[in-house]
Amino acid sequence: MQLDILAFGPHPDDVEIGIGGTLIKHARMGYRVGIVDLTAGEAGTNGTAEVRRRESLAAAEIMGVAVRDCLGLPDARLEATEAMLVPVIEVIRRYRPRIVLGPLSLDGHPDHQRAEQLVKDAAHKAGFRKYPAGGESYRPPVILQYLLGSYREPDLVVDITPYYEDKMRAIAAHASQFDVRGNVETYVNDPAFLHAIRARDMFCGSMVQAVYGEPLYTSHQLAIDDLMGLRGWRRMNEERRQMRG
Ligand SMILES: [Zn+2]
Repeated sequence: MQLDILAFGPHPDDVEIGIGGTLIKHARMGYRVGIVDLTAGEAGTNGTAEVRRRESLAAAEIMGVAVRDCLGLPDARLEATEAMLVPVIEVIRRYRPRIVLGPLSLDGHPDHQRAEQLVKDAAHKAGFRKYPAGGESYRPPVILQYLLGSYREPDLVVDITPYYEDKMRAIAAHASQFDVRGNVETYVNDPAFLHAIRARDMFCGSMVQAVYGEPLYTSHQLAIDDLMGLRGWRRMNEERRQMRG
């Protein structure tokens, strides 16, 4: 099956947090959307690989995505090594997505940082005809990054306003991570964490006159065929440009 959009997450709840609304929106528009979790999240404080897989499939159903795979790479030990690249390359070649989404590595989690490089490297190397991995060579034309922790001025914002409560339901499906009852208290099951995600999405939405928006980033020069697909956004002043670095 060929996918329109393939989103990679380091851990089973990352895609929901960073880009859940965008995936729900495009699935509802009829695009074929898939998620690949790089690890099963087995090193997390709460939950096991089995529990987290069940939760991730429940979240996938809420989001309406066509596939959700887990590559089972080692949690807390992700590296952009050739051995770890092979399964990522093979899944890109299998689904041949038009758009690949991966995390932007601004926060301190080493897996998130390594995952950005792993996804970018795999998306490029999947196009090498002679790269020793399974499947027919294919290079996705567009690679975008989504935000996990921290913040940077977005390159693009997707208006996800009508889908926001579904995004929150998909996140909540990961009960082992976000429900403190029966679990060890962590940074993410403190209610302040989801308030912060909501606040960030509202702030990004405010840039494009939407209630909620998800920020996207790219190192590509983007092109558009139909100008009518564009929406306005407050112009960045020089100071904000410099903040982007
Ligand atoms: Zn994560």
